[in-house]
Amino acid sequence: MPINLLILAGTIEATRLAKKISDVGINAVLSYAGRVERLKPQPLPKRIGGFGGVAGLCNYIEASAITHVIDATHPFANQMSRNAVDACTHLKVPLLALTRPPWIAQRGDFWTHMDSIAAAVDWLKIPARRVMLAVGRMHIHEFALQPQHFYLLRLVDPPAYDIPLLDFESIISRGPFTKEDDIALLQNYKIELLVSKNSGGTGARSKIDAARSLGLPVIMINRPELNRERQEVKDVSEVLHWLSHGAKDLGV
Ligand code: NAP
Repeated sequence: MPINLLILAGTIEATRLAKKISDVGINAVLSYAGRVERLKPQPLPKRIGGFGGVAGLCNYIEASAITHVIDATHPFANQMSRNAVDACTHLKVPLLALTRPPWIAQRGDFWTHMDSIAAAVDWLKIPARRVMLAVGRMHIHEFALQPQHFYLLRLVDPPAYDIPLLDFESIISRGPFTKEDDIALLQNYKIELLVSKNSGGTGARSKIDAARSLGLPVIMINRPELNRERQEVKDVSEVLHWLSHGAKDLGV
């Protein structure tokens, strides 16, 4: 049976994989949650929106005759990743995760690790600081519990709702950003503290490198636990190797 891939997307890695899969002529569809308004053009067909939980994903996989699933979602997109494991286990469809390694603190980094956004919000019960918040649009409202700070936000799209922070500025930009850009940004806004998810990879790293250069402290939010077993690779070429050398059913 010819390969018919479902790629769970929304990351730079998924975009890189799409290019490679298209180059080698494998049938595939890219799936997006629909959080971003202006999706970049892709060389593969796409579908947009949630599937409707594990049951909805199972229905989609069966109805679309998907033979393999690649989970190339963001390391914090835990719900989608769990659903993918559960659906593929149930249907015995081979699943591979394309993941990026987390960032590791280097000499010159001043990181305080937190296990959740809620823990970071709690930690911020301190006198007013100028904070760059790099946690994604979905979590900004949680920081309203610490209204004493100035927050600098950088968002892909203009927010479609009123941001519930008292003192903030938002910059709308998709990047890519360089370390030099972000040093200038942190200096211009007199930022004293960075709050970031440990996304890993190169696309979002410039702010971390800039914070190191300026000796700024970082509240680093650790990745959530998946609590599921799955096969993972770190590189697009490993996905192609997996596809051509017999992907194994998770449930077998
Ligand atoms: P999430 O909490 O794991 O997912 C919540 C729900 O959104 C899922 O249960 C699923 O709905 C739907 N969904 C998520 N990813 C999807 C996809 N690729 N295709 C179709 N439906 C999807 O995910 P999230 O953290 O909100 O992230 C949403 C998307 O943004 C992901 O694709 C991720 O790669 C991307 N992203 C996330 C972050 C981040 O920090 N979380 C950063 C950059 C990019 P149903 O249950 O209805 O199927």
